[in-house]
Amino acid sequence: MSIKTLTQLAGDLKNGRVSSEELTRDYLTKIDLSDHNAFISVNADSAITQAKEADKKRAKGADSPLLGLPIAQKDIFCIEGTRTTCGSKILSDFEAPYTASVVENMRSHGLVTLGKTNMDEFAMGSSNETSYFGGVKNPWGSSDENLVPGGSSGGSAAAVSAQLAPAATGTDTGGSIRQPAAFCNLTGLKPSYGRCSRYGMIAFASSLDQAGPMTHTAEDAALLLNTMAGFDQKDSTSLDVPAEDFTIMLEDSLSGLKIGLPKEYVSEGLDPEVAALVESAIKEYEKLGAQLVDVSLPNSALALPSYYVIAPAEASSNLSRFDGVRYGYRAEEYENLEELYLNSRTEGFGEEVKRRIMIGAYALSSGYYDAYYSKAQKLRRLISNDFDAAFKYCDVIMGPTTPSPAFAAGSRTDDPVSMYLNDIYTIPVNLAGLPAASIPAGFTQSGLPVGLHMITPYLREAKLLNIAHQYQLVTDWHMQSPSSLGGTT
Ligand code: GLN
Repeated sequence: MSIKTLTQLAGDLKNGRVSSEELTRDYLTKIDLSDHNAFISVNADSAITQAKEADKKRAKGADSPLLGLPIAQKDIFCIEGTRTTCGSKILSDFEAPYTASVVENMRSHGLVTLGKTNMDEFAMGSSNETSYFGGVKNPWGSSDENLVPGGSSGGSAAAVSAQLAPAATGTDTGGSIRQPAAFCNLTGLKPSYGRCSRYGMIAFASSLDQAGPMTHTAEDAALLLNTMAGFDQKDSTSLDVPAEDFTIMLEDSLSGLKIGLPKEYVSEGLDPEVAALVESAIKEYEKLGAQLVDVSLPNSALALPSYYVIAPAEASSNLSRFDGVRYGYRAEEYENLEELYLNSRTEGFGEEVKRRIMIGAYALSSGYYDAYYSKAQKLRRLISNDFDAAFKYCDVIMGPTTPSPAFAAGSRTDDPVSMYLNDIYTIPVNLAGLPAASIPAGFTQSGLPVGLHMITPYLREAKLLNIAHQYQLVTDWHMQSPSSLGGTT
């Protein structure tokens, strides 16, 4: 089944080849027939109502670029009157009383929500296996090998890859957009911290969380980001910068572009096939006129330990609101208030979430705060300084998105550290608040997609998307679909 990008579908809608209602019904049918477990909730009636509205607006002459396009929303975004679970039992029956600003922004551009996608519980995970609603099948797996789609935005990645939606939203705290994009052959963009409002997006680690698009192409990512980004008074960390058109630089030439290659990115655990594919992608950039520069990010090795103190610390505080009293799951049996808290949280949270809450509470406790939390914050500064220093010599930093391609379901669940190591290349970017993307860069011998990771200085998303787009003009990895959908690879 050949891939239809957002851009192509927008053209079809504009020319009247298809209506939003027809398109939406078509995707709803595909979702219905699929067995990927990519969605937690599907709101068919609401999607069709939104699509009809978009068709009416178009008939009256409205013409915003993505008007009437149906997409999937990660189930971390609140949508008023809709079940919003964040992949957790504790929110399994929670109906959001308001809508996230990012979703509100997208709606005002006429985008239609098909449903809410599966995800690791509270976005903690790299394989979607911590979801209360079960794992998600990577469409690139085979009938005899069930592969993870990556996480935590695994449902979004599988949905777009299996063409159950032409695009989806994700969130990225330590790699949750880019890693699943790499595992499912998509373009995934984590914008600069502050670009997209966090209001109504259930918090994991507030100083790291950022929403972004998951699409087939960089061009689609630019169009979708145009509808997601923007200052929001309701989020004090949202950036008050003038609205930008992220498509504006797409066609610029890359002649003279300086690509920084950090020596730390060729690390011990890197799969040789991934290394080789990334190397050949970088060669392609040389053909486009780019020059290669050696750079160093000497504190990269400290990113994982720093993240695994800061993120759990913030999570332990953010998740204290789930107490069984105000909303969410409440235990049936308790004798007093303390037991109500204890039993609701014990029964409502999964293992990984509990692990993070305990690590976070420990790192923040008096007596350990200086040894862990405050040290981790200092490392964060050093990591950020490394990027500033490297960007004196280059416009973009490139390397692999992940050390390996998608792995088998169940193969890492017993070993949290091997799971955490997946994010070794993506986490430094979140600590520094920078924009970064993963784009398809080819396939291993066994046909698994590999992602090329690219990082630019703060607020340079337009440049980043230009760099990604120019590569996609001369390659077609991103247009390959898995053999489970009749693709050739
Ligand atoms: N895999 C990382 C974690 O478990 C990152 C998750 C994310 O970006 N939400 O913390």
